Amino acid sequence: MKLAIVGAGLTGLSAAYFLKDSAKITIFESDGYGGLASSYCPSYCIEKFYHHCFRRDSDLIDLISELNLSGKLVWRVARVGQEYNGKIYPLNTPLEILKYPGMSLIDKAKLAKFTLWCKGKSQEYFRKYDEVKAVDGIRRDLGERLLKSFFLPLLRSKFGDLYTEVSYAWLLARVAIRSNRKSSGEELGYLRHGFQQLVDRLVERVEGEGCEVRKEGVKRLEKCGGWRVNDEHFDAVLWTAPLPVLKEVNPALKAAAGIKDVRYQSSVCLLLSSEKDVTQDIYWSNVNCTFGAIIEHTHFMPFKDYGERLIYLAGYTYPESELMKMREEEVIKIYVKDLKKFGIDSKDIRWAKLFRAKYSGPVYETGYLKKMTSYKTGVEGFYVAGMTSDPNYPERSMNGSVKAGKEVARIIKEDFGL
Ligand SMILES: Cc1cc2nc3c(=O)[nH]c(=O)nc-3n(C[C@H](O)[C@H](O)[C@H](O)COP(=O)(O)OP(=O)(O)OC[C@H]3O[C@@H](n4cnc5c(N)ncnc54)[C@H](O)[C@@H]3O)c2cc1C
Repeated sequence: MKLAIVGAGLTGLSAAYFLKDSAKITIFESDGYGGLASSYCPSYCIEKFYHHCFRRDSDLIDLISELNLSGKLVWRVARVGQEYNGKIYPLNTPLEILKYPGMSLIDKAKLAKFTLWCKGKSQEYFRKYDEVKAVDGIRRDLGERLLKSFFLPLLRSKFGDLYTEVSYAWLLARVAIRSNRKSSGEELGYLRHGFQQLVDRLVERVEGEGCEVRKEGVKRLEKCGGWRVNDEHFDAVLWTAPLPVLKEVNPALKAAAGIKDVRYQSSVCLLLSSEKDVTQDIYWSNVNCTFGAIIEHTHFMPFKDYGERLIYLAGYTYPESELMKMREEEVIKIYVKDLKKFGIDSKDIRWAKLFRAKYSGPVYETGYLKKMTSYKTGVEGFYVAGMTSDPNYPERSMNGSVKAGKEVARIIKEDFGL
């Protein structure tokens, strides 16, 4: 069976890994291998967009183990903080939360009760809130003050300008899964020296089994008995690239396959090497700037792995926004100017590199649950997996993409008797 996989992100590479013994596979990739999880590699490798994993990411952890990379997987309590009036406050231990000045004691108690309530419910329970906007749900259940002081900054940090569109179902599901933390903070995992090792190992293994991984974007995709991908014939196609790209390549196929329009958000991430820390020991700070978070990578992984302080300024926006159109230098200027209030000046920055992803994830807006894609589509021999698949809800993640790759591989095997 000849299978074309569109996209060499973690979904496409994982699907190829789990199908490598059963099919003759060609992976088409228009950009860098690893997709959103790819890296910038000067003398070391660092993800273009900050990446870490969680203890519950069993599919990813199993794959890391199968690829003999478990020795590289390290776990650390990563400290988080929140800006309030230009100052970043740590928000990890119960005492730190009590001391945080941005919220009254009553609101903190309300928030704790709400978190416990979410934790006690199943993920399915929240689905009934799919048509309710998160801002309306929070306003109704917790009040305007908590919405403004706590949830709006978080929603803005995660969705940029699209924060008012997000569904309450998503927010509740997300609070439930993220509230499983130690009293000292949340433990996060990282593949020491970078997730690029996972990408490289996957490419190596699938190529070793005769799969071809090609730097060639798919421009033409048609059903013709079997399938024609660019100028080659295949028996089946697995699409793992963003859905708007499918709409550009073959809108009729997207419609026939029953795939609905999904709105995507874009990421604008500035990676910089700084002479100074922003905080003393915090990994992730939510801030109210053009970007929504400051992620101090070298407060998570050792400085000596890089020989310099690495910091991400991470923001989200939408594909048509000015931030996506502006010249790189202009965006860098805006981001660096916003850093000033935290005591970092442009002279403190050794270098800065901007990474933008037009389609960095679906917007979990109201009605999203009805738009999620199933692996098998309405067109025979055409499969879809990736960020809009079930394992990537409510959090699109490396784990979700590995799981989606594994699940779609099983279905393709069943369909073709492999
Ligand atoms: C800012 C940011 C931070 C993140 N942080 C984390 C984190 O901390 N932890 C975590 O677990 N996950 C994180 N993620 C999510 C994680 O990176 C993704 O969920 C996962 O990598 C998606 O993999 P994918 O293969 O499904 O999609 P993608 O990585 O988008 O892969 C799709 C591939 O298709 C390719 N493609 C597009 N068009 C074509 C075409 N015409 N022909 C051929 N190929 C094409 C693309 O170039 C891309 O390589 C983060 C994502 C972002 C954007």
